Parts: sequence; C-alpha cells; structure tokens
Amino acid sequence: MAECVRRLINILTDERNRGYDDEVVIGGLASYIENWSRQARAEGLDSGLIQEIVSYLLGYHGKPQSARAEAVGASLSRLRQLAPTRMQAQAVPPAAAPEPGPAVQPSAAAEPGTGPQPAQGGEARLEAPAPRRAPHISLDAPVTAVRGIKEARARLLARLGIVSVRDLLHYYPREYHDRSTLKTINQIAPGEQVTIAANVFSVSTRQPRPGMRVTTAVLMDGTGRVEATWFNQPWVETRLAHYREILVTGKVDLHLGRLTISRPEWEPLTSESLNDRGLTPIYGLTEGINQRWLRKEIANAVESFGDLLEDELQPQLRQELGLIPMQQAIATIHHPPDWDGLDQARKRLAFTEFLMLQLGMLQRKRAARQAEAAPLMVDEKWRSEFESALPFALTAAQSRALDEILGDLAAPHPMLRLLQGDVGSGKTVVALAAMLAAVSSGKQAAFMAPTEILAEQHYRTFQRLLEGKEGRPFSGARVLLLTGSLPAPEKAQAQAAIAAGDANIIVGTHALIQEAVAFRDLGVVVVDEQHRFGVEQRAVLSAKGRQPHVLVMSATPIPRTLALTLYGDLDLSLIDELPAGRMPVITVLRGEAARESIYAFMRDQVRRGYQGFVICPAITGSEDGDVRAAVDEFQRLQESIFPDLHLGLLHGKLTGQQKDETMRQFATGAIDILVATSVVEVGIDVPNATFIVVEQAERFGLAQLHQFRGRVGRGSARSYCVLMTDQVENAVLKQLETGAVDCSSLPTGVQRLDAVRREADGFRLAEIDLRLRGPGEFFGKRQSGLPDLRMAELSDLRTLELARRLSERILDADPVLENPENRALQQALARFWQNGALAV
Ligand code: ADP
Ligand code: MG
Repeated sequence: MAECVRRLINILTDERNRGYDDEVVIGGLASYIENWSRQARAEGLDSGLIQEIVSYLLGYHGKPQSARAEAVGASLSRLRQLAPTRMQAQAVPPAAAPEPGPAVQPSAAAEPGTGPQPAQGGEARLEAPAPRRAPHISLDAPVTAVRGIKEARARLLARLGIVSVRDLLHYYPREYHDRSTLKTINQIAPGEQVTIAANVFSVSTRQPRPGMRVTTAVLMDGTGRVEATWFNQPWVETRLAHYREILVTGKVDLHLGRLTISRPEWEPLTSESLNDRGLTPIYGLTEGINQRWLRKEIANAVESFGDLLEDELQPQLRQELGLIPMQQAIATIHHPPDWDGLDQARKRLAFTEFLMLQLGMLQRKRAARQAEAAPLMVDEKWRSEFESALPFALTAAQSRALDEILGDLAAPHPMLRLLQGDVGSGKTVVALAAMLAAVSSGKQAAFMAPTEILAEQHYRTFQRLLEGKEGRPFSGARVLLLTGSLPAPEKAQAQAAIAAGDANIIVGTHALIQEAVAFRDLGVVVVDEQHRFGVEQRAVLSAKGRQPHVLVMSATPIPRTLALTLYGDLDLSLIDELPAGRMPVITVLRGEAARESIYAFMRDQVRRGYQGFVICPAITGSEDGDVRAAVDEFQRLQESIFPDLHLGLLHGKLTGQQKDETMRQFATGAIDILVATSVVEVGIDVPNATFIVVEQAERFGLAQLHQFRGRVGRGSARSYCVLMTDQVENAVLKQLETGAVDCSSLPTGVQRLDAVRREADGFRLAEIDLRLRGPGEFFGKRQSGLPDLRMAELSDLRTLELARRLSERILDADPVLENPENRALQQALARFWQNGALAV
C-alpha cells in the first residue's frame, strides 16, 4: 500500500476523533491535501482517485461540521478500499464463502447488510447462478419455503399478513435509512433519526429486574458521547466486544439527561458498510421478528424466488410506459442502490397498483352495464313540463346532468351514476326528476339521506315542489317519510304503504335499508351525501329492487381523476356552477384583536333578524388547553357575551334525537347562534343563516372549511364567513385583503386559510387541499370498499390517469382478459381483488 494512503488515513482518522476541528495538521486539511496530492502523484497513485480525494477536502476549513464529517467519511471510505485496515480484516468473515451449505449456515454470526445483493440496473439481472430452491416450488408456497424461515417464525409472519413467499416479496419497507449522510455525535438531537459512525467505548449488560436485561454501549466519536441500549438481547454485548467501530442507526432520545439511541440497528464499521452508503430498508415488525432477521430473509426470498415473479405488463407495453421490470422493481424496493433507483421501483409498483385498481373498477362497471334493467322512458314534453313547473330555471350544468341521467334511465341497463356538485349547486331537484321518471313508469323511488333532519328537509322540499302540480310528470306522485324515530304504529303503516306501492317517492334515513322494508317495485335509488354511507349500504338499498337505477350524490368536491378512482365503477355527472344571482359569501381572516368587533357584528346581524354559527375544533376542553371547545365556548358566549340571545349547542356526543331537536330549533329561528363542532358540516339548509365564525380555523381542512361556508349564503341576504386564527396578528391578516402583504411569507396554516378566502370554487379548493395534505387526510381513514394501496399515492393523478387509459385500452381489446398474453395480468388482477389487499 502506498505510504501516502496510510498517512492520510491516519490523519483523517485523527481528524474524526478530534471532532473535525481542522487542527490536526498545521495550516488545515485543505492546504495539506494540496501537498499530499503532489506526493501521491509522485508515488504513482491513480490520478482519478487523487482528484476525488482532493475534491472531497477542498475548502474544508470553510465547511460546517456536518459537511466536514461527510468529507472525511467519504475520503476515508475511498482510501480504505485501497488499504485494508486491521479493523476491516477482522470484520470481514474469513473467505466469504458465497454458498454456505445449509449444514454450515451461520446463524448469529451472520451480519446485517451482507445478505445477497440483488444486482441493479440491467434487465438481465437474474441470468446468474440457478436460484436456490426446491424444484416445483411456486410463489404461493408457504414462507417456510424460504431458507431460514421455520414454522415458529412463519406463525409470527402471519401476523404481518405474510403467509406465502409472494406475500414476503411484496412486503415493502416502511421507510429507508439513508446512510449517505453520517452525523457526528455533537450534531444529533433528540427526536432525530440518525446514522453515526462511532467507537465502542464500553459495553455492559445489567438486569434491572427479573426477565429484563438491558445492554448499554457507550459510543464516542471525538465530538461527544451517546449511549445505545438494547433490551433482552444479551448477545449484543458479546458481539459488540469484537468491534472497535460500529455504524449505528436509530432514533435519538434524551434519557435521564443523556443522549440515548434505543434499539438501534448496528453493524461493524467496515469499508463495505461505509461504502454501502445506500438506503437501508426498514420494515414494519411484530413481536418476535426483528429488523435484521426480516431483512435477511426477504433478501433470501428475493434471491431464491425473485425470478418466479411474473410481469403482468408485456415488455413492449412496459417499455412504452418507461417502467422497469417487475423483478427488478421488487429487488430494488428491498435493496435500493440510491434514491433514484428507489423512485423507479416505487413508480413501477405504484403503477401496477393503479392498474389493478382501474382494471377492476372498469370491469365492474362494464359488467353492470350488461345487467338488464327496466328502462324508464320519458319524452321531451315530459321533461319540459317538469322544468316549467319549477320555481326557477335549471342552470346549464343541472340541465346537462339531467340529460345524462335521463339518458341512462332510458337504457335497458341499470344506471350507476355519481352526481357531484358543490354545496348549493342544486342536486336535489335533479334527483327529483329521476325519481319522477320512475313514478311515471309506475315504479317507486327511494331517497336515502344520512340524518333525520336532512331526510325531513328533503321530504318537505319534495312536498313543496309537488304541491298542487297536475299533469304527467307529477300525477300520481305520493311522497312518504320513513325515519327511525317514527312511532311504531306509524312506521308499520309506512312500511305497508311502501310494500303496497301506495307510496312511490320514499324519503328516509338508514331506516330504509332495514329488513322490514320491502318495496313493491323499486326503480330508482338515490343516495344523498354518499360519503356518509358505506358501499354496502348502497348495495343493500339497491338489492331491494330488481336492478334499480342508482344515483349517488356528493358535495365533497373531489378532483375528477380522483373521483374516477374512488368511484371508478360509476359514471360521473358534474354540476359545476351555482344558480345565478347567488351572492358569494364574503370570507375574511381575523385574529384575536378583532374578537370584540366580531361579537358586535354578530349581535348586529341577529338584531336584523338573521342567525349564524360559531364552529369550534373540539367538543370539550382537553389537557392541552389550547383548543377552543364548543361546550366551553357555548357557556362563555351565553353567559358573558350574549346573555340576552338564544344560543344552541351542537356536537357529536349528543344523541341523534338531541341533535335533531337542536337543528330543528335553529331551522325555525328559535336559536340565534348555534355553537357547534364540525357535525354541522353536512347539508343543512337554513336560508336565514348569514354568518359563520370558525374558531382556530387552521385546525380544519380546506374542504371542510368550504363545507362550513356552504352553511350560509343560502338565502337572499349577504352572508359572511369569518376564519379566526391566532397564528398571525390581526393587522397582518387584514392586509391580505388589500394585497399589501405577501401571503407566501406567512405560516403555511395561514396560507391555507387564505386560499379559502380567495377561492370560492370548492373543486379548486379541493385540489389545493389534496395537494397540501395528501389523500389520506383528505378523505379521513380508509375509503370503504377500496383495496389498500401500499405504494400508490392517490394524489398522483398523472399516473392514475395513465393507468385508467391503459385499462380502457386493455379491456377494449380483451374484455375478460382471456387472451394468452394477458394471463399474468388476469391472475394478478384476481389476486388483487380477492384479498381486498394487495398481492400483485
Ligand atoms: P345541494 O346541491 O347542495 O344539495 P340543493 O339541491 O339543496 O343543493 O339546492 C340549494 C338551493 O338552491 C335550494 O334552495 C334549491 O331550491 C335552490 N336551487 C336549486 N336549483 C336552482 C336553480 N337552478 N336556480 C335557483 N335556485 C336553485
Ligand atoms: Mg344536498
């Protein structure tokens, strides 16, 4: 080994041990390295290598400590490749036999990260030696087929949903630790996830109580010390004793005032481990399964079974899409060479999930179109009579939606359509037309709403619209209300009327889908605020007819592409304009300083005969006293601010009856100001309400704020939405309105609120919201009826759209995927939907 290499290694090691103070050589490392490069050249060292080292250490003195650590680490690892050190010689197992037979298979001695390393890049990666597995074993074999996995562990893996070899291959890492940025101990802080290279100063194991053994290693790197602890892994002590320097990855905590890394991942520091500066996969675990073991077994599985993975995309198609092969994607996801490689793998796996999702949805959709249903025909005259009987002219968007719906109804296949429209866009009247079409054909229609108060509201709306109307679209229409709170005799009466066909427009709640309810001939089903119902509930209601036509309605303004995914088996009609003449709600942002004047404003509105809301983010006060709670606000406002007004309280912990009663009082004007939580979100129509004040508005999602705003502005009077926040001074918030302050300089929470202020269009807001928050939060927990997506991000609209188009293309050519070239695709699809989860 060249003398200059040895010398530089010594210097750099010292530098590291001193904590990168650049005092190890006079004049600093940067100037030393210039001299060194001259000597190195004289000694005949490779000039490319010299340049590389020089480039690492250039400007060393001016670098912050983290960059210094990185530069030294990089240089050292490069130099060590040329100069095996004592430490390295120790760490590398003697004559690393590539194929240890099962008999001599090392157990505890196996090092993490030294498992089989799938080759990256090339498509021909599996040309290598024949994979090790028993003949005739398939991916659907139990995991015990993977060498190293015994029955006991297999039972534990089952808890992670891993039963077959295929499951194991598709068990993707939850995250990756990036080793490419090493930190020094003085740079780490509690709460961070870090990787450090450090000396093992001491190791000890103690037993604080029976059955509990804590192994603690004190680690130092010249910049500081940190403790690493392991629980009930006494063998760690023995193993650590072998190594002077280790690489440790884990989360930093502060324990009794000392920096501690609990249960870290670790491995000996070798030139390989330093060089393997890639991404270490971290898997979700369960008790009895540790990270290193699982990583090793998955690597085994990839090595032995990876070549069995079938590619559901034909090569030509795949290349057209610019995606890597499935086998490569799986190998890479478990052992990415770098972030770019990981991206490629994720992209491939995500696309596959989207494709499965869309194919399944489209197949369902196409199948539904095949089923037979009674066509409900109405003619032009019917339609114009309906329209002219309304107290207003339909908007162009309503008219378009109605065209689409009446077109569906006239076909001999069941309609399955989503009617989407912002709050107040007028979906109800369009639904009424569909129901009247059923009545005109001698059939019944059911309209299901999520709450009693909404059902009652719709019932009254329909009665009012039908009152005194003669002639075809309306003749024979008999509206009936069925809710859970009807007294038993009336309920029985209602059920009898439904069964006999005496009632033909039935409005109700969940009560409609109870077993006792039987329709004589149900032709049209309408589900309002469909996100409040599960897919099954929709199905139960539909099952009460023979292939009825189904219309679901939603005011949750979701971007079109996303709708195609979530409701991909539905056709979509969009009402994207509000009835003319509606005054937009004035939205303002206000801070604490404005509180008094807002109360004065509310009082003034009430004096003029109007009503309004105060929305709070919580029901009751929590320990964290920062949240405004509805119960407390109600009391405070009633007692000290508005003692002379009638206040009401509405929140989710009240019974359905209490809620309905309060809403009724509000609707009749008996309550002036309703203090509520987000329960007030859905569909209530009180035209007399002109103001809504949202406390701590930054705690709500944009779509939700938009829904709140939709509670007002339903009458002819000017309405106001006040978003309160204490994140920024009131004076600054006011300036947003004049454009005197740049929004992007404010906290993101306030920026989001400003989007609500500026944007009245729910769909555009939804898109902003989706971008800002991601679909997980956007939709709350899991959307029922959808398989879990492990890799695909619903916000990735581009990929989603691509998968949709490809699905159409594939199904156009081969509707049931029976062509031989689609065999792999068909099987993948069956697995995907059968599990409800993913096993592509
Ligand atoms: P949503 O789509 O939120 O369910 P609704 O159907 O409740 O909206 O309609 C909101 C209000 O607008 C109702 O009072 C309704 O009578 C009225 N409306 C519906 N369509 C029109 C229209 N074309 N012109 C004027 N008002 C309309
Ligand atoms: Mg509605």
